[in-house]
Amino acid sequence: MSPIEFVEEAERLGCEGTSISFNEPTLMLEWSIDVFREARRRGLYNTFVSNGYMTLKAAELLVEAGLDAINIDVKGGREATKRYCGADVDKVWRNAEFFHRRGVHVEITVLVIPGVNDDEKQLREICQLHREKLGEDTPIHFNRYYPAYKFHAPPTPLSTLEKAKGIALEEGLRYVYLGNVMVKEYMNTYCHNCGFLVVERDVFSVVNHFLDEGNTCPKCGAKIPIVGEVKVSRRGYMWL
Ligand SMILES: [Zn+2]
Repeated sequence: MSPIEFVEEAERLGCEGTSISFNEPTLMLEWSIDVFREARRRGLYNTFVSNGYMTLKAAELLVEAGLDAINIDVKGGREATKRYCGADVDKVWRNAEFFHRRGVHVEITVLVIPGVNDDEKQLREICQLHREKLGEDTPIHFNRYYPAYKFHAPPTPLSTLEKAKGIALEEGLRYVYLGNVMVKEYMNTYCHNCGFLVVERDVFSVVNHFLDEGNTCPKCGAKIPIVGEVKVSRRGYMWL
């Protein structure tokens, strides 16, 4: 499908934006850039779900083409990323920081795998780098792993994900989510100041939000800076 056909299909289906995901989208950089340019011209937003492993030149091209938001999967601490991916995770953090500074909405996801990246030292290293590079308001997700293909470690215990969340909160991160666990409380957004439920989610959709004007908490008035404008899509779903 050509970039133009892709964007036309998105419009025909009533989509509000594009997302390039599942296979590492950096492998289709030129195609992605063409999609983003055309989608932005037509008023759609653009997102990338990526391992964040690219040159700064590639990152710059994506921003120029109209990237609005990126989720970056951090595979682990420095050692585990080197060992399992043969990659330098500092380049991933460098790129995350670059996108953040350029005004792209950034979220970080960590697939927590038993025996690979679930030890306290490594989780703390990730949370500290997250805070240093992206600040306390950038959301972080700890996702549950399930065995697949040649990897046979058991699924991540919920207690491990809760431990990761506890470390993130200790390190001062304000928006911490647990994924692949299908527990609504872990997907919702709560006010970092008073704990009031401000955004209620159900898997991929926002089902309700209780933010006051200016995206402030209705209970204590704290600013909730993770959300942009509240929009209601043509299908009636809200996205934030
Ligand atoms: Zn509050």
